Amino acid sequence: MAGTAVRRRLSWQRAEVLELRHETPRASRLTLRPPDWTGHRAGQHVDVRLTAPDGYTAQRSYSLASPPEREAVDLVVERLDDGEVSPYLTEELRPGDLLELRGPIGGYFVWPAAPDGPVQLIAGGSGVVPFLAMLGHHRASRSSVPVRLLYSARTVDDIIGRAELGEPGSDATDAEVTVTLTRGAPDGWTGPTGRVDSALLAERTFAPDRRPQVLVCGPTTFVETVARGLIDLGHDPGRVKTERFGASGGP
Ligand SMILES: Cc1cc2nc3c(=O)[nH]c(=O)nc-3n(C[C@H](O)[C@H](O)[C@H](O)COP(=O)(O)OP(=O)(O)OC[C@H]3O[C@@H](n4cnc5c(N)ncnc54)[C@H](O)[C@@H]3O)c2cc1C
Repeated sequence: MAGTAVRRRLSWQRAEVLELRHETPRASRLTLRPPDWTGHRAGQHVDVRLTAPDGYTAQRSYSLASPPEREAVDLVVERLDDGEVSPYLTEELRPGDLLELRGPIGGYFVWPAAPDGPVQLIAGGSGVVPFLAMLGHHRASRSSVPVRLLYSARTVDDIIGRAELGEPGSDATDAEVTVTLTRGAPDGWTGPTGRVDSALLAERTFAPDRRPQVLVCGPTTFVETVARGLIDLGHDPGRVKTERFGASGGP
């Protein structure tokens, strides 16, 4: 029943941490088994709540990295050294621990149920996480919708989702993937370097006349710059969706 499913999504549950591995030097992938999972859509997130021994709680949102077709639920968390929650999740959590979460949450920033054009994904840093779920879903559902990802990472080592995205030229995903490196590229790097700007948007994303549905995710300033650049290029603002990973604070 729908009411029961909604109640389950919005109640806190304790999920067992099955596996933890370093995704990059700054980010960890957590594989979880929520006992009461109702399934999810690619792009949705969960809320994670930590409780200190004195009862103090902190709560943050994390996108689901795994496609709906996979049984286990993956999160990828990037450590902010001065953050409250992410250092715990990336450094202190251990397999077998229980983590309080609720979800899946969100119906806006999700893979379109019936895409009516190509889908353009644009990510900065850990903003690529919901797109890993979308690319996995695109492939698993054998979707023929053209999809491109433009992803800005600091260095090669900071690329999240290398398993899903593959090396340049590999067929790990059905999407056309462009990674731009903002803080230096290794010898032999054939992709672009530098921040996402209008020139890179024009060169590596679907043109406005193809009427793509565009999803942009990352730090607030990245999202704002990219969204402005897209509008300047002539994209329909109504077809551009954004999700910001800014400081969330909260209880
Ligand atoms: C829908 C959604 C999905 C997300 N998905 C992911 C994901 O998949 N992976 C991921 O790594 N992150 C994700 N995030 C971000 C995540 O929720 C946290 O914000 C992030 O992990 C940082 O949390 P923290 O507790 O470590 O840092 P916080 O303690 O929240 O601090 C974050 C930063 O803000 C600064 N700060 C804190 N409070 C203030 C203040 N009052 N004034 C000024 N600056 C302040 C801190 O110095 C720090 O640099 C997502 C966010 C949203 C909203």
